[in-house]
Amino acid sequence: MSVAGGGKERKRMQDRNDVVRRDVLKGLCCAAAAVAAAPVVRGANAWAALSPPAGELETRVLGTTRVRVATVGMGAMITRDPDVIRYAVDHGVNYVDTADCYMGGENERIVGRALEGVRDKVVLASKVHIAPVDQMIASVENSLRSLRTDVIDIMQLHGIKSEGEVADEGAREALRKLLDQGKIRVPGVTTHSGQETVLKAVGKQEFYQTVLVAYNFRSDTGIKAAIKNVFGSGNGLSATIRDTAAKGIGIIAMKTQAGGYSVPQGSLSPHQAALAWVLENPGVATTIPSMVSFSQVDENMKASGKRLGWGGRKALTQYAWAIGDRHCGLCGECAGSCPSGVDVPSVLRSLTYLEGYGQEHLARGTYRGLGPDRGALPCVSCGSCAVSCRLGLDVKRLARRAHRHLA
Ligand code: SF4
Ligand code: SF4
Repeated sequence: MSVAGGGKERKRMQDRNDVVRRDVLKGLCCAAAAVAAAPVVRGANAWAALSPPAGELETRVLGTTRVRVATVGMGAMITRDPDVIRYAVDHGVNYVDTADCYMGGENERIVGRALEGVRDKVVLASKVHIAPVDQMIASVENSLRSLRTDVIDIMQLHGIKSEGEVADEGAREALRKLLDQGKIRVPGVTTHSGQETVLKAVGKQEFYQTVLVAYNFRSDTGIKAAIKNVFGSGNGLSATIRDTAAKGIGIIAMKTQAGGYSVPQGSLSPHQAALAWVLENPGVATTIPSMVSFSQVDENMKASGKRLGWGGRKALTQYAWAIGDRHCGLCGECAGSCPSGVDVPSVLRSLTYLEGYGQEHLARGTYRGLGPDRGALPCVSCGSCAVSCRLGLDVKRLARRAHRHLA
């Protein structure tokens, strides 16, 4: 794929990174600010040099933005109480992620209220869908108003699935204009389908600097293979994340708790173990688990700096049993394989929003957003399912259930 603007684009982004780093670090007065002289991370070895300040949240460098972020960030997607967000920030969380479309726009307003007076303590990320240039700019300007800020630190293209979307010149034009106007600081993308394709495409170009990727202990093939991948051998999403991060792309992990299903507690709680698993991958700079309560913030923050260990592995095994065959790992391998056009990963993600997150409104909105062409109506009358899932999920049964509850 072509590199946008070649050397000129590279120089432009380097200059901008220096400004971003200066501006953002100037504002970060919590744990992250204490290490403002952070090294630029250019290769895998550099990750090992990072160590958490004692008694504070572990921090890592977000790719070539060179901004240090706590490894546990705030996914605000389903958070309705601004005090929960504020509580997380007051306790060292310095990365907050939202989107223009969450809760029909209300989520950005909640985040805006939560960050009043502490805006300069966080890296603030939001999202915009690919659309005509004017519409994208209008959408980001609306986000600025909702978030009560002059600048959004990371503006991500929402739900990218293909190399073509990464190369989309109209989207870049819109983001370049916003960068030039100082309304955003860093362009990035988000992906929960075709993730390896998207990561590799971003790794080859020089415009987008971050990728928000769905990643958890079910992302690779089975727990054993997943653990093997994390330690450096094997292929799959874990390896692709490491490779992409080594090219200087800042990696943020979402869907880290594999749905957040309720399960019995061990020494490390299953949710802490799931976070610790994600953070075993040195390519991941931060995570954005969804948090809706003070106790969830406390629980997730305790995973910062923790290593998985045997207790964590045991907790993950219990968690995997509890999840059973309900949760799609979002690997995207089955995308496009339904002859009737059902978008299986998105259908099953909707079901996870319902059964894991307990978010009926979000689940319905996501499912209905697929429309008649990508929804699971054909599964109702389908004889035998042609989609093969690498986790062995019964796709037809789950897709039918999603349709029954969410259509
Ligand atoms: S059950 Fe049939 S329609 Fe549904 S995903 Fe499988 S092949 Fe496609
Ligand atoms: S249904 Fe299975 S193969 Fe398809 S995205 Fe989910 S985990 Fe991957």
